[in-house]
Amino acid sequence: MNHRLSLLGMLLLASCAAEAPRYYKGNLHTHTLWSDGNHFPEMVVDWYARHSYDFLALTDHNIVADHDKWIQNDQVVRRGGRNALADYRRRFGADWVDERQQDGKLEVRLRRLDEITPLFADLLLIPAEEITSSFDRKPIHINASNVTARIAPERGESVQDVIRKTMRAVAAHAAKHDRPILAHLNHPNFGWGVTADDIAQVTEERFFEVYNGHPSVNHKGDADRPGTERLWDIANTTRRRDLDAPLLYGLGTDDCHNYHNASGSTPGRGWVMVRAQECTARALLDAIERGDFYASSGVDLEDVTFDGDVLSVAITEREGAAYITEFIGTRVDGEPGEILARVDGPRPSYTLVGDELFVRATVTSSLTADNPVWQGQPRQAWVQPVAPRRRR
Ligand SMILES: [Zn+2]
Ligand SMILES: [Zn+2]
Repeated sequence: MNHRLSLLGMLLLASCAAEAPRYYKGNLHTHTLWSDGNHFPEMVVDWYARHSYDFLALTDHNIVADHDKWIQNDQVVRRGGRNALADYRRRFGADWVDERQQDGKLEVRLRRLDEITPLFADLLLIPAEEITSSFDRKPIHINASNVTARIAPERGESVQDVIRKTMRAVAAHAAKHDRPILAHLNHPNFGWGVTADDIAQVTEERFFEVYNGHPSVNHKGDADRPGTERLWDIANTTRRRDLDAPLLYGLGTDDCHNYHNASGSTPGRGWVMVRAQECTARALLDAIERGDFYASSGVDLEDVTFDGDVLSVAITEREGAAYITEFIGTRVDGEPGEILARVDGPRPSYTLVGDELFVRATVTSSLTADNPVWQGQPRQAWVQPVAPRRRR
């Protein structure tokens, strides 16, 4: 009996160990030749697979790779892919590459997602789309990850109306197909399209890009308009103070279009680390929904914990790096996005006083990013906001 019990105990321990959650690395925003990216989709996926990503969403504009599409090689070359076809043939073999002559022009068929997925055993491809719309020339781009088919862009009477209609279209698609779908608002400052108030007021929206590696997204704002981090704090202040709405969580993404040279929007600049029990779309999206993830441009975290009173971060130390963590939040009667504490070292924590509407953390390394967008861009990580367990 004892023997059987201990065996059972060992089995339980083993199964618990197998299910211990860990961080998975992924990028939920990147482009291919299916829209305005400049490489073949398999080559894009291959880049991420070779750089140790666990999951990836190809998010082309208003299109899902589920049908036949051919592209003229001239067009690939015009986008900067002079060697794209040769590289593609070399990597996947001439037999794999589907070519034809049409009206005297060389064309290549873009492979569908269902053809590409089996090529990559170690990388989860999540079917996705960048739902691309606008209002009054203001770009409104929303990524939907884990779709089964294209979701059409919406038109509306204001920026907020377009965002709300898009969120509802995504929710309807998720309900109809009985699957979780992550909708996240992209690059609010691109074309100065979406303001902090727009982000705050559409409370169906739960996720947005606090960091997008495209150089044209005005990450730092300008003299008159707030940068993306500040937008986050203003929006969350409105949500907690005026709307009793859920906090917004922040993602990091690449929004890569350019795989051939060093300029423009290149891969590997922004990503999310999601703590899940397994690398499946359902497990990852559940974890993101719970806020169990962080955004990164080059800082890794071992752990983030919040027990209702103390927000603690454990940073994975990199040789030669020093770290400063800013705990940022808004007090009940305070200004949005105050720096509540600035802590040196790899194990920063902040004990909530109780008058905070929310607190989040930004970790900044003394090392610059591998592929900086601006000169001297530091490696950073963005920890999701939390609200105190109780007001004191
Ligand atoms: Zn976009
Ligand atoms: Zn994009």
